[in-house]
Amino acid sequence: MWGGSHRASTKKAVELFHEIFNGIKERTIGSDPLINRIVSGSAATDTMRDLEFVDVDLGRDNPHSTDLLEDSDEGHYSEGGKNLTAFNHFIDIKKGPGRFDDYDGYSYKRGSASSEEFQDASDAIEIEDVETFFGEILSRISGMKIDEGLNWWLNDEYVHASCHKWYRNCSPSLDRYSFPEDKGIYRNVKSELKARFPLADCMGESGKGIPCSVFMPVDNLAHYWYGYAIRSGSFDAFSNVLHAIQDATVPHHTAGYMGNWHTEYERDLNGAIDEILADTAFKSDVLRMVDAWNREDVSPPTKLEHEDWQRVPAKNWRIDRLVTWNALHAFKAYEDRYQRFKNGYTPDWNSIKELTAIAVAMSVLAMIKITEERGGPVFTYIANIRTKELHFPDCRQLTKMNESNKAFYPLYELAVRENPAYDGCYYCMRRKHTD
Ligand SMILES: [Zn+2]
Ligand SMILES: [Zn+2]
Ligand SMILES: [Zn+2]
Repeated sequence: MWGGSHRASTKKAVELFHEIFNGIKERTIGSDPLINRIVSGSAATDTMRDLEFVDVDLGRDNPHSTDLLEDSDEGHYSEGGKNLTAFNHFIDIKKGPGRFDDYDGYSYKRGSASSEEFQDASDAIEIEDVETFFGEILSRISGMKIDEGLNWWLNDEYVHASCHKWYRNCSPSLDRYSFPEDKGIYRNVKSELKARFPLADCMGESGKGIPCSVFMPVDNLAHYWYGYAIRSGSFDAFSNVLHAIQDATVPHHTAGYMGNWHTEYERDLNGAIDEILADTAFKSDVLRMVDAWNREDVSPPTKLEHEDWQRVPAKNWRIDRLVTWNALHAFKAYEDRYQRFKNGYTPDWNSIKELTAIAVAMSVLAMIKITEERGGPVFTYIANIRTKELHFPDCRQLTKMNESNKAFYPLYELAVRENPAYDGCYYCMRRKHTD
């Protein structure tokens, strides 16, 4: 999803969470500082700079070397103005029998780019695009399908950085977003990646370096950040979980395609999202889903297969399974509604609305889930009734506060309405701090 779609979906989800959980009907929460932090955080995941790319194919940019003869010793976090971590929004579930795996990375070459691409690069070029990095690539690969052309241009290495010597301690993404121990198929992350992503030919030497797909899919992203949020109570971390939940509802993300009108789909969604969310039928759809999912499943799944879109999710499903469940629906749309785009692309608005409802409902469920699993308020202001300081729930000052001095407010407005003397904490809410 584009940033606007994430922000709008998250805002809607927080509003509905407050309605369900705190009985707040009013919609006067537009400028609430805590909600604004969650909303902007859920879009900011795409701009994280934790994923470093090093040009190992040419044997330069060694991040550990200070040799001046090296082209550049700086590992870089973005390419052509695009932050590499943004590519984590994919979840390639198009595997077929026996090859279904939650913990896969993705590859232009293996995940897509070899079949079922239908959009020509020349079709995707826009005049304003030509100046950009992506536009320039598109212009060089006209005559090819998009993914095929990207694969050729990047030689399948853009998504795989050989780690070995160059990468040691340089790619937190590799550790963060991969959970092979949950799976039991591979001995460790390196053997998994080695099996899935053999060395690219242009490494030039056999056995040189270890192939690593540093682009891990959104279910892993959610799993990592959810665990972090549970331990720390940080809702900045939790915002990344919402991002993952929402990104898994984009059909192209679940089929692993950069092409096949992915950009056009995102643009249509982004342009229509406010209207979709404002619809009262949409709201009742979301509330119905949350109501059905807000339950304990006596046997939560340990993995999800293609047909498991029919299962009814529950709040005690592991977060990455909930993300994958979303992805199964998005992939179903890719197959059924759009026929894998072999006849071109026309937006299917019923499908777009349904997937957006799933994105918002699952975001609400995740908020309920973490609130219950944390055993304390995550999306609530905490006031000190003695000092009259108002804190975000993840403020470090709270550890020093006496429990008997705490008062809880779901919204900033509600706190200051009750006691106008409340003042934003100097450490966590300086913009509302006055004395
Ligand atoms: Zn996308
Ligand atoms: Zn994303
Ligand atoms: Zn504070």
